[in-house]
This record gives sequence, C-alpha cells and structure tokens, in this order.
Amino acid sequence: MSTPSQEDYLEAIWVLTDEKGYARVTDLADRLQISPASASKMVRRLHEAGLLTYERYRGFSFTPRGRKTGRLLYARHQILERFLTHLAIGSAQDIHRIVEGIEHHFDVMRVDQIERLVVYIDHHPNWWAQFLDDDGSVSQPPIGKST
Ligand code: MN
Repeated sequence: MSTPSQEDYLEAIWVLTDEKGYARVTDLADRLQISPASASKMVRRLHEAGLLTYERYRGFSFTPRGRKTGRLLYARHQILERFLTHLAIGSAQDIHRIVEGIEHHFDVMRVDQIERLVVYIDHHPNWWAQFLDDDGSVSQPPIGKST
C-alpha cells in the first residue's frame, strides 16, 4: 500500500468481492474506468506485494493482509464520506469525488477520531443542526478592527 492508485485498486477489489464474492479483472477495469490491461498489470503488482494471489486464467483473490488492507481503505472512504455529508458541502456525487481526492492523505489507522465525530453527530442531530444553522458571526472577530 504505497501509491494512491494501489489504494484505489484494493478498495475497489474489496467492494467487488463484498458484492459478488469474487472480483475479476474485467469488473475491476469497469469499476475504475481503466483498460483491462492496466487492471491486469496492477493485479500482478499487488500479487508481488503479497496483497493478492493471482493465478493465470483463474483470476485473483485477497491474501489475508490484502483483505485487511482493502477493508480499512473502504472504511476510511466511508468515514470521510459520512463526515462531508454531515457538513453538507455538496451533492452525493460531489462528496464522492472530493473523498476520492483527499482520502489518500489520511492514514487508515488515524481516521478513528473522525469516525468518533461522525458517530457523535449521528447521536446528537439537534446539536449538529444548531452548528449548521450558526452563521459564525458571534465567534468570528471582525477583521481589521483594533481593540
Ligand atoms: Mn475511495
């Protein structure tokens, strides 16, 4: 797990495997909108990295380490999506696109504080609605005004 694109692959393989019980190179290529040749090349690279087992003509599956990594990457994506959804900063599509851009900068093991916040918001909808309604005018000191 060293490059953003490897993370995208592992996350996509996790989703495909979760939905169908298996993943094929063609499904992976469709999902990531890349050529089957590129998908196949990355599958072999992930096999070499010990994250997938790949057998020619038989497809591929996660190693235990790959499965764990895929699960964490998918969870990270979901947590960030839930967080941005609470912030109401755009449509579901906008939010998905933003998360695709930022997720790689969050260490998978360090999103638990964001998850805590998301869960807290889920449990305190009134508190959060109050936050969203607040225009911030009370807490923002006027700019350029000397005291
Ligand atoms: Mn993602």
